Amino acid sequence: MIEVNEDWCKGCRICIERCPVNALEESDKMNKRGVRPPRLKKVNECNYCRLCELLCPDLAITVFTDDKKKESRKTLLRPVGGRK
Ligand code: SF4
Ligand code: SF4
Repeated sequence: MIEVNEDWCKGCRICIERCPVNALEESDKMNKRGVRPPRLKKVNECNYCRLCELLCPDLAITVFTDDKKKESRKTLLRPVGGRK
C-alpha cells in the first residue's frame, strides 16, 4: 500500500519518473499547491521497493508493506516550508 499526502506534493514527478516498474501516474485532481500528486496506476504493479518514498523531497509518500505496520510508522516530520 502506498499513501500519498497529496497536499505536501509539489509535483516534481521524481517518484513517477524513477519508479522502476512505472507504477505511478499523475492524479487527475489538483492539490492545494496546484499540482497533480502521484497515484498508483494499479495496486498490483507496485513491488513496494520504497524508492518513491526515499526519493520524494517533500516526504509526501509512505510505502507500507504490511497494514499492521502503518500505525507504528507515523512520522512527526514535516517538509520544510510545507503546509499543515
Ligand atoms: S516525488 Fe514527492 S513531491 Fe515529487 S511528485 Fe512525487 S510525491 Fe510529489
Ligand atoms: S514503492 Fe517502488 S514500485 Fe512501488 S510505486 Fe514506489 S517506486 Fe514504484
